[in-house]
Amino acid sequence: MIPLRDNIRNMAGYVPGFQPDDGQDWIKLNTNENPYPPSPAVREAILRELGEDGARLRQYPDAASRAGRQEAARLYGVDPAWVIMANGSDEVLNNLIRAFAGEGEEIAYVHPSYSYYATLAEIQGARVCTFGLTDKWELDGFPERYEGKLFFLTNPNAPLGFAYPREFIEELAGRVAGMLVVDEAYADFADDNALDLVHKYENLVVTRTLSKSYSLAGMRLGLAVARPEVIAALDKIRDHYNLDRLAQAAVTAALRDQEYFSRCVQRIRETRDWFSVELQVLDYSVIPSQGNYLFASPPDRDGKRVYDALYQRRILVRYFSDPALAHGLRISIGTREEMMATLDALREIG
Ligand code: PMP
Repeated sequence: MIPLRDNIRNMAGYVPGFQPDDGQDWIKLNTNENPYPPSPAVREAILRELGEDGARLRQYPDAASRAGRQEAARLYGVDPAWVIMANGSDEVLNNLIRAFAGEGEEIAYVHPSYSYYATLAEIQGARVCTFGLTDKWELDGFPERYEGKLFFLTNPNAPLGFAYPREFIEELAGRVAGMLVVDEAYADFADDNALDLVHKYENLVVTRTLSKSYSLAGMRLGLAVARPEVIAALDKIRDHYNLDRLAQAAVTAALRDQEYFSRCVQRIRETRDWFSVELQVLDYSVIPSQGNYLFASPPDRDGKRVYDALYQRRILVRYFSDPALAHGLRISIGTREEMMATLDALREIG
């Protein structure tokens, strides 16, 4: 037997959403990707970085991703010392656990939300605690003071889509003894966010991704905003060249083109709200969503049946076998045409 650490031997590993590789056309609504291409400025910036012969790729990228940090800092109204760039927000979530939770120490998150936090904690050998939700989407049994090292709050919640109010984030910041990480992967689609609260609460970290609202899942770009002491710690432990040259070119161009970004986000929000109404016409129960996805349950509350029937029609949505989620499906918001085709299929499936 190879001499693995016990926790690595025993862990299951995270399984991301299914990626078809059969060369067929799928309507892919299972990983909350953006249906629109990134800003044309992104492609231009990448081509510019590549140049005629790609010679710049000989050299390492800027280790600190300074241009990206500056652009993000300008956009979010903070000093660049408050920002770190990451190879997808997953990287920064991983580094937060490595920085704050030692072996045997506890982290917590909400169930259901993003279960990758648990995988990252298992790798580190940290203990994982979860808090459920009441039927009013409040945290069930959350103590007056949580003594673990990190508490992850996915806001808007994924996969359910509802958002916690800002006052609740403020209250939580006071009740969490360790770090409160607000994972705002979907906040660009929401009415509100907690980013500016990093100035008010020194234990608050806000993470963002360019995978969804900026259509850049394929480039692996994320970031975190927090006090400079936190950012400096994360800088010590990240891969020193964590963003490649093309990703660095892309992130600056994407963040700069706010006009394209806003149009794209607005279109997805409109499609989401229209699709939610149409699902309810089909007697689905739908949770009001602040993300680029909807969590919806068919009248018979059999998510697997509808998942399979959509799959037969090459429409891919996300089904979770977890008992807390098996009654429904998470459906990412695609183009209006993709959503119309999905509605047609759902009408047929019944
Ligand atoms: N947080 C949440 C809640 C997510 O759904 C995702 C995407 N699966 C991520 C973080 C990670 O995003 P990325 O690594 O693509 O930035």
